[in-house]
Amino acid sequence: MKAYIYNGPGKSGIEERPMPTIAAATDAIVRITKTTICGTDLHILKGDVPSCEPGRVLGHEGVGVIESVGAGVTSFKPGDRVLISCITSCGRCEFCRKQMYSHCANGGWILGHRIDGTQAEYVRIPFADTSLYPIPAGADEEALVMLSDILPTGFECGVLNGKVQPGGTVAIIGAGPIGLAALLTAQFYAPSQIIMIDLDENRLATSLRFGATHTINSSDGKAAEALMALTEGRGVDTAIEAVGVAATFELCQDVVAAGGVIANIGVHGTSATLHLERLWDRNITMTTRLVDTVSTPMLLKALCSHKLDPAGLITHRFKFSNVLGAYETFGNAARSCALKVIIELE
Ligand SMILES: [Zn+2]
Ligand SMILES: [Zn+2]
Repeated sequence: MKAYIYNGPGKSGIEERPMPTIAAATDAIVRITKTTICGTDLHILKGDVPSCEPGRVLGHEGVGVIESVGAGVTSFKPGDRVLISCITSCGRCEFCRKQMYSHCANGGWILGHRIDGTQAEYVRIPFADTSLYPIPAGADEEALVMLSDILPTGFECGVLNGKVQPGGTVAIIGAGPIGLAALLTAQFYAPSQIIMIDLDENRLATSLRFGATHTINSSDGKAAEALMALTEGRGVDTAIEAVGVAATFELCQDVVAAGGVIANIGVHGTSATLHLERLWDRNITMTTRLVDTVSTPMLLKALCSHKLDPAGLITHRFKFSNVLGAYETFGNAARSCALKVIIELE
């Protein structure tokens, strides 16, 4: 089969690989029909994720069709159409029993990281019963690819952890795919204001189409002042960090209201300053989380009943033979205006 392989920093390409085979009774082999690229894949390609070793098939998102299952798989059979979760969960360990699938002792984020991933014609999915979801008949499979990772990430790490409330005020720093996923799912709770902050005018314009009430271009360094003017000097009840750099985390501290929550989503590679000298008496809460994908069944229902429409996140489509073109487009988002790219294998 053909697969997209990480071969060390700056080196990658399509290679011929043997078909994956069932290694444990709880495995399934899935024929991929649609996959996508995540910002994390770009980090791996740069060499920022040393736990991902050269030779790895990348990708942790996608939909496909069950090709074969191990003897212990009871929920799926060959031919079933499935959504692949970016988080593999054994369902049995202490963390899984607490619904912290991201920290599963036997899984977690392993796909396209510690084991071969979804940017290939076939993938082996461990613990298939608890790591795959059946796709309802008639569902928009392209939109469903957004449920492998970015929708549950924006919702769980941003909206749920950020305690978004009816009538509350929300700021989302970063209007990339994850920030937009938080914007879409924050609207389940009908907050009164959702203020999107980014440097990119195109992404801010997209935010308004996706339901933001206000946007702030932070390129002048005065985003906090602009936000205070929009909130009568109070700040926001929920400040969601969806970039992963120190400056945006510190901006969250500047704009959170007394009693508010700072919910971090971003992947941080360096330390950030915590301004306790200003925040110690402000009754704030700060949260961090790796997505658990516990909300995926709910998001599936919301998508199928048209209460959630993530299809607008998809800006480009590529055939798998041009996966390099897909990476080029996704990696140059400022120029290409890419949000999520779909890679088709059928
Ligand atoms: Zn991802
Ligand atoms: Zn587990």
